[in-house]
Amino acid sequence: MNNIFEIDNTFVASTYKRFPLNIVKGKGSLVYDENGKEYIDMGSGIGVTALGIADEEWIAAVTKQLTSLQHMSNLYYTDPCALLAQTLCEKTGFKKVFFSNSGAEANECAIKVARKYAQNTKGKDYYTIITLKNSFHGRTLTTLAATGQDVFHSQFTPLTEGFVHVDANDIAALEKAVKVNKTAAVMIECIQGEGGVLPLDADYIKAARRICDENDCLLIVDEVQTGNGRTGELYAYMNFCVLPDIISTAKGLGGGLPIGATLLGEKVKDVFTYSDHGSTFGGNPVCAAGALNIINRLTPELLKQVKEKSEYIFNELNGAKGIENVSGMGLMLGIKTTRPVADVIKECMENGVLPLSAKDKLRLLPALNIDDEVLKKAIDVIKTVCAKEN
Ligand SMILES: *Cc1c(COP(=O)(O)O)cnc(C)c1O
Repeated sequence: MNNIFEIDNTFVASTYKRFPLNIVKGKGSLVYDENGKEYIDMGSGIGVTALGIADEEWIAAVTKQLTSLQHMSNLYYTDPCALLAQTLCEKTGFKKVFFSNSGAEANECAIKVARKYAQNTKGKDYYTIITLKNSFHGRTLTTLAATGQDVFHSQFTPLTEGFVHVDANDIAALEKAVKVNKTAAVMIECIQGEGGVLPLDADYIKAARRICDENDCLLIVDEVQTGNGRTGELYAYMNFCVLPDIISTAKGLGGGLPIGATLLGEKVKDVFTYSDHGSTFGGNPVCAAGALNIINRLTPELLKQVKEKSEYIFNELNGAKGIENVSGMGLMLGIKTTRPVADVIKECMENGVLPLSAKDKLRLLPALNIDDEVLKKAIDVIKTVCAKEN
């Protein structure tokens, strides 16, 4: 057996429906298959390679760390972990950080903090977390329980108990759920990513903060996909003038290396004490060095460029033939196409562009620093493909 598709299909668990494309290398927003064919990467590994593939500065930061210390247990101090936590806190106003290795783990940590806080302040039975229908919070049994989409649940029950799902953007429903249940926290994504790139109403996000305050609950914002510059602000909540008690993030944070972070605000900064939580790889020096490089480069200037590139895409695609609407913020965009999204993606691929999908939409999560010329080329292809009659 020497065909890589065949080897993968035989030996890798069958959880992914892969496109017949073997990507071997890349540079910036361009990637190449084994035959040297070039593609424009409009997904950045699902919002992970925030500053593109094989970025020189990021490689230098990661390599410097890699060649001096690739790992040390959390029994000892290491520079990158401490400096990354400090940087994240200074840039956001959060007080402490717990590091893990993925989005799901960052959410698990947020949920553990919320439960401990509520049990200590209100009592042992105040463990319910209210989340939204159509949300996505991860694949572990607890973050699946938090995920408000039945399709992910059915064959894996029993899930962790204590999660209640309410309709997004229904303020009255949220208020009722918080009051009826013994609630520890409300957990939201400011833009539901996997759910179809659906931003919550600004009024709803503000109301969620108010309802949490009035009922002594915590507000958790899942910034796994929306975080780290993706929406044109460092974190998506910053677009809405609310301050969550906890945010979780991952995806773009490491620039391509696995790292999750849970940022704890004033109220909950000291909820965890010795041995409450841990992670062997959490805060790994190489991942943290990569993340520190990324976070330090998400400057106001870069975030402004994210907004400009976003505006360009909106202007090009909104109202274009075969495009019903464009949703999202910054460089996290969902495009409702008239043609079936699977056909659109297939033809984009044939024409050298790799977009993502989310539910029935085309989803674009390009690198935040995608070159304007390259972006224009990709948008032209997407427009042409969407405009075709089926
Ligand atoms: C991707 C995602 C997760 C899960 O992240 P993993 O790193 O795959 O565990 C959780 N929440 C949101 C909003 C996501 O987009």
